[in-house]
Amino acid sequence: MEAVEFYLDKIKKNERLNAFVEVYDEESIARAKFLDEKRDAGTNCGKLHGVIVALKDVICYKDHKISAASKILENFVSIYNSTVVQKLLEEDAIIIGNCNCDEFAMGSTNENSVYGSVKNALDETKVSGGSSGGSAVAVQAGLCMISLGSDTGGSVRQPADFCGIVGMKPSYGTISRHGLIAYASSFDQIGIFANNVQDVSNVLEVISGNDEFDSTVNHEISESLIFLNNKPKKSSGYRIALFKNAMEHESLDAEIKKSIYELAEELKKDGNIVEEINFDLIDYIVPAYYVLTTAESSSNLSRYDGVRYGYRYENNSEDLTTFYKKNRGKGFGKEVKKRIMLGTFVLSEGYYDAYFTKAQQVRNLLSLQTKEIFNNFDAVLLPTVPTTAFEAGSMKKDPIAAYLADIYTVFANLTGIPGISLPLFKHSNKMPFGVQVLTNKHNEVTLLEFSQMVLKNYKRY
Ligand code: GLN
Repeated sequence: MEAVEFYLDKIKKNERLNAFVEVYDEESIARAKFLDEKRDAGTNCGKLHGVIVALKDVICYKDHKISAASKILENFVSIYNSTVVQKLLEEDAIIIGNCNCDEFAMGSTNENSVYGSVKNALDETKVSGGSSGGSAVAVQAGLCMISLGSDTGGSVRQPADFCGIVGMKPSYGTISRHGLIAYASSFDQIGIFANNVQDVSNVLEVISGNDEFDSTVNHEISESLIFLNNKPKKSSGYRIALFKNAMEHESLDAEIKKSIYELAEELKKDGNIVEEINFDLIDYIVPAYYVLTTAESSSNLSRYDGVRYGYRYENNSEDLTTFYKKNRGKGFGKEVKKRIMLGTFVLSEGYYDAYFTKAQQVRNLLSLQTKEIFNNFDAVLLPTVPTTAFEAGSMKKDPIAAYLADIYTVFANLTGIPGISLPLFKHSNKMPFGVQVLTNKHNEVTLLEFSQMVLKNYKRY
């Protein structure tokens, strides 16, 4: 109860950060009271009893508004619980509110939101990152204990990197997407923000696992995570790969590059194998990601037409096409429209083979190479983002630069492997930055064990 009041007060004091879309104040106080009584009565408490959680505005919570930060879902109220919400509630978590994000999770700055941009709490002239910027800042500024985001191309790991916290995306098919508003269904995964790896692990244990509503979830990891806390951690003997082409990439900030090489050296000194390997496909991954995700989004977003739900411009259009055009034209923001058009284009007859098929071929090649890599290595180290948090507004002038900055995160989504950003470093410009760790598909246990060890032994500030 006191904890909820503490966080509600903090949220109020930090309203200018614009991290929350809606705060469930009365409701979370009532729930805290109920949970306190449950504990005092000696009833068995859930695994997340009293843990205060914030949700990204793309995760459905029954009887609560959900909009994907879009005008097109203005005043839409969710009629069911997403599987993750259901599982959180069953384990006695408290959901304190829902968080701002880029519209339909498209973006890297949280500036494409109908609710306005989110400020980075460490420097309010910098962006929070995106698309789950509100969820990241909610943890960064201590407005909740943990938060959920979604990661289609880096939207959990990138804002975690910009905010100096932990952000993890599990393997595709680990957490049910039932009740997650879709952007690109073969890439989307719910991810977790926290201050440490143990919290990530505890939440993952609860929200992952098979679900009758999402047949792509084909993997149970909860059993293996339970004892993460108690296991003796090994700090040596890991086989770690660095991608030479990624580390040598011209977009990578010199200080970030140096810090990651230094980390690699220290890991080596401490008895791990660290090798640089070639990764020739690096320049193909961003184009492949944007072709495939925009194609999927053009299909996913076709349901927002103003007929069944969401925003309707007017009731008396002269014909159906005009009706659709007006609803969608006025309801969607600029970035979303751009992606729907791009996706429609790459799927259209005459261009399908040149773009969509080619991008799928790149995705297949990547998966083959990834398998090969993890035959020889336990983990891959990469920067999370080539730079620290962008200056607010800067990416509006150069949108392609924002796409290119996804270079290190989209790989995990194209191949379905898990990834995490660990806050290890501080730049001379005073902003934090992380290192990204990737492991083989469905090997969250190694990912989290290794990450916990790295964060404990190599944090630089
Ligand atoms: N920055 C990426 C994009 O704009 C990531 C989005 C995401 O992961 N949801 O597509």
